[in-house]
Order: sequence, then structure tokens, then C-alpha cells
Amino acid sequence: MATRHANVIIIGSGPAGYTAGIYAARAMLKPLLIEGIHPGGQMTTTTDVENYPGFADVIQGPWLMEQMRAQAKHVGTEIIRDHILEADLKRRPFSLKGDSGTVYTADTLIIATGAKARWLGLPSEERFKGYGVSACATCDGFFFRGKEVIVVGGGNTAVEEAIYLGNIASHVTLVHRRGTLRAEKILQERLFANPKIEVLWNAELHEVLGTDNPLSVTAAVLKSTRTGETVTIPVDGIFIAIGHEPQSELFKGQVDMKPSGYILVKPHSTATNVPGVFAAGDVADDIYRQAVTAAGLGCMAALEAEKYLAGLERVAAAAE
Ligand code: NAP
Repeated sequence: MATRHANVIIIGSGPAGYTAGIYAARAMLKPLLIEGIHPGGQMTTTTDVENYPGFADVIQGPWLMEQMRAQAKHVGTEIIRDHILEADLKRRPFSLKGDSGTVYTADTLIIATGAKARWLGLPSEERFKGYGVSACATCDGFFFRGKEVIVVGGGNTAVEEAIYLGNIASHVTLVHRRGTLRAEKILQERLFANPKIEVLWNAELHEVLGTDNPLSVTAAVLKSTRTGETVTIPVDGIFIAIGHEPQSELFKGQVDMKPSGYILVKPHSTATNVPGVFAAGDVADDIYRQAVTAAGLGCMAALEAEKYLAGLERVAAAAE
């Protein structure tokens, strides 16, 4: 069994993880960053990025993540392709077991595991997942060229996905459970100006209808949130964009969390209730959830980890 030890281990490769890597490496802490199954995280499933500061022109999410990864590596972060399956934060050093079989130990840990798309939980949604039901327009939109699709949700993700699909599908219906959108105004303006997109207000997805052989979606049953009436509309694809949930299962029972699963951190800090364990980015942020805030939190986590390690050294020196 291979083992690896590091002063600082960062789990996660989104803006929080890579930024923590950049700062920890520049503090000469020789951080080890474990990328997980989906290197680059949620930003790799988005296209145009217009609100990450520093770029006057529109940039692409996957490109931005490649740049962050290259920068983290360039300044000395060791990036490892592994997925952590188990974590033991009760022992010192902290212990993590990777899918590769490697056991990693760390004096400080930065949890930057991000968030993943939320689903409605309908049995018919589950049945057609990957066969016409998707949570990622940039990943699966291509399959719906010239076809009719719906997008469920009213936040930035739903509106961006609807606009993106407007370039591919023949018609897009955005289905939102209320009468106003949560998305930024600039995105709303673009949505309303797009002749291929229609918004269906006060409605929710009630059931997905489709065929068995081959498994494919043929229609959506939509229910009015006002009257309870249902309508069935023919569609080929259904995109669920109703928000995200934190990827914190690995640490359940080991660090304090909110009932929603977001890791609890001290005010104005990334410190969890376990000394030496820090959480940054979407796994601990249920308010802002932006790439730039995640990057800022990653920076804070690395600075706090550095301070924590310096404290450990002082204690060890005093004991000698
Ligand atoms: P979000 O802002 O939480 O919006 C989720 C949407 O889904 C809301 O409109 C919500 O309706 C709806 N919804 C939730 N549960 C539902 C259910 N069971 N049935 C029907 N509808 C449901 O999530 P998001 O759009 O994924 O965005 C997450 C975060 O990432 C946000 O902070 C967002 O600003 C950020 N983000 C930013 C950008 C960007 O800056 N370009 C792009 C994407 C995401 P209600 O409105 O009724 O609650």
C-alpha cells in the first residue's frame, strides 16, 4: 500500500482548490492537490464566463480552469489524479484513502470539493437520466440539435442553459415554479430577447414521459403551481437546473455541517470545528457560490493553513 504525506492536502480542483494550491505553494508548504473525478469542477461544465475579473473579453470556463491548474502547478503544487473515498479526521495526521489505494496523510487539510447539480427526485426523471434528461446543457446539448427541449429552474444556471440551448435546439421552454426569475438581470434580458425561448411561469415538472425501447423522452407533464392543472407538451430533452448541493458526504459526522450539508466555517474564516481542517468554495458557501468568491476563499484557506502549521511548529519547538 502506497502512502504519501504532505503538510497541506487540498481536495478539489475548482477555483477554490487551485487558488489554495497557488497560495500554499508560494508559502513553500509543498501542497498536494487531489483532483477528484472531475478535474476543474463545475466551471468545466459552463461556457462563456463574463464575470471573472481580469478578462475584458468573454472567456470559456474550461479554459479558465486549465489556466488555474497550470498556474498552481507552475508555482509548485503537486497535482494528483485520484479520488478520495474515505477520510479520517479524528487521527493526526489526518488520513485519506484514495481510489488508487494510496493512503494520504496531512497535517492540514483544505476541503474544496465543491457542489454538484441537484435533481428533482421524480422516478421518471431517474428513469430517463442520460436518455433525454440531463443536468448539463454544455455536456449534452449537442444531442438536441434542431429538437425541442425544456429547462427547469429560474436561477443563473437555468437561464444560461436556456440561452445556450437556444443556439442548438429548435425551441426552448424555460419552466419556472414562480412568476419571477432569480437570475441576474443581464441574463434575464438576453433570455427575454431570444425569439427561440419561451418562459412558462408558475409551473413545475410533474412527470417525464417517454418510450422504453429505445429509452427516450417524448413529452413533459407540467403542473401549474397555482391551479394544480397539468398540461403535456411534446419535448425531446429535459434539462434540470434547479441549483446545487455541496459535495460533503465524505466528511459527514467528522466536521460540523448545516442541515443542508454545507460545511460550517467560523465567521470571516475557512476554519471548521476541527483544528487544521479548512473548507473553501461551494462546499462551504451557500450564499455567493461564484468562481471568484471560491477563489478568494481558497486563498484564505491556504493563508489560514499556513498560520496553523506555523503554530504547530512553535508548539513543537517549545516542547523541545
Ligand atoms: P440557484 O440560484 O439556487 O437557483 C435554483 C433555481 O431552481 C431557483 O430559481 C429555484 O426556484 C429553482 N428550484 C429549486 N428547487 C426547485 C424545485 N424542486 N423545483 C423547481 N424549481 C426549483 O441555483 P443555480 O442557478 O444553479 O446557481 C447556483 C449559484 O451559482 C448561484 O449563486 C448563481 O448565482 C451561481 N451561478 C453564477 C453564474 C454566473 O455568474 N454566470 C452562472 C451559474 C451559476 P426559486 O427561484 O423559486 O427558489
